[in-house]
Amino acid sequence: MTAVLAIQNLVHRFPGGVQAVNDVSFAIAPGETLGLVGESGSGKSTIGLLATRLLAPTQGRILFEGQDITRLSAATLRPLRARLQVVFQDPWGALNPRMTIGRLLEEPLRLHGGNLAEARLLAERVRLPLATLGRYPHELSGGQLQRVSIARAIANRPKLIVLDEPTSSLDLSVRAGILQLLEELQRETGVAMLFISHDLETVRLVSHRVAVLYLGRIVETGPAAALFETPGHPYTQTLLSAHLPPDPFVALRRHRVQGEIPSPINLPPGCFFAGRCPLALPACNAGPPAMQPLAPGQEAACLRIADRTNRLEPAEDPA
Ligand code: ADP
Ligand code: MG
Repeated sequence: MTAVLAIQNLVHRFPGGVQAVNDVSFAIAPGETLGLVGESGSGKSTIGLLATRLLAPTQGRILFEGQDITRLSAATLRPLRARLQVVFQDPWGALNPRMTIGRLLEEPLRLHGGNLAEARLLAERVRLPLATLGRYPHELSGGQLQRVSIARAIANRPKLIVLDEPTSSLDLSVRAGILQLLEELQRETGVAMLFISHDLETVRLVSHRVAVLYLGRIVETGPAAALFETPGHPYTQTLLSAHLPPDPFVALRRHRVQGEIPSPINLPPGCFFAGRCPLALPACNAGPPAMQPLAPGQEAACLRIADRTNRLEPAEDPA
């Protein structure tokens, strides 16, 4: 089956020498949600912009439904836009404040002559109270506005929605409802999703598969359940242990990671995590480590995996 989105060896350098994306490859199947997780500054949003071609990559290829869109002009991309949608973190910034919710919903439907009746159906599909249709964005809550953004994204039966931190500006109680809505819409329509978040728990909840990003490079990828259960890369292990809730036993399990995150302007030649990794070998600094298989569908870019010495030992009790 053709992937809805295939990213191949993507590289992106910003002016000033920032290497935001470093040789990233992945594919998303129809009906699948790939979670892209990483700390702030790891290149998640840049990958989202490249995937939707709101930005052109320095190197690499982007295939949407098998079509190479890497170098297409804005004009050539326009007819594809309906099938390739984005939802951003900030629904206030994404919606025209001078348009009523009804008009905001009608706008994407116009592509095939949509009207208010269809806008109402759309509102119902995202469980937006019909009373909001006559209101303006500033009169709605953040959760309702995000439902408007999602409604606009699904209006023209997209094949892929890229969601960049779609619930990060929302209260926890509102977040669950939005995640449930996304899951429902995916079940109904088979739309594929690239779900970008720095929040591990959110990513675990919505993703079929997860890719872990560190300094613009994917260090590990696998089925969500396997990756969260037995993370392979020392960086993923660290990330997951740091995320555990405060607990007397956590201190014992925390891994001692030292040093600073390298600058994205001057990245090391080998594994980007080597300088901080308690398990680093001299060979880790020689060149980018290749992906090693861990379990079905799960792989990580760590030399230690070959002989299964990749498990971080719990730090000793600091007391
Ligand atoms: P994330 O979404 O994971 O927080 P970003 O993709 O926003 O990460 O940023 C990745 C890196 O690229 C960061 O080092 C960031 O400072 C840099 N960056 C992002 N946008 C620009 C830009 N327009 N110009 C220069 N550097 C940028
Ligand atoms: Mg971001």
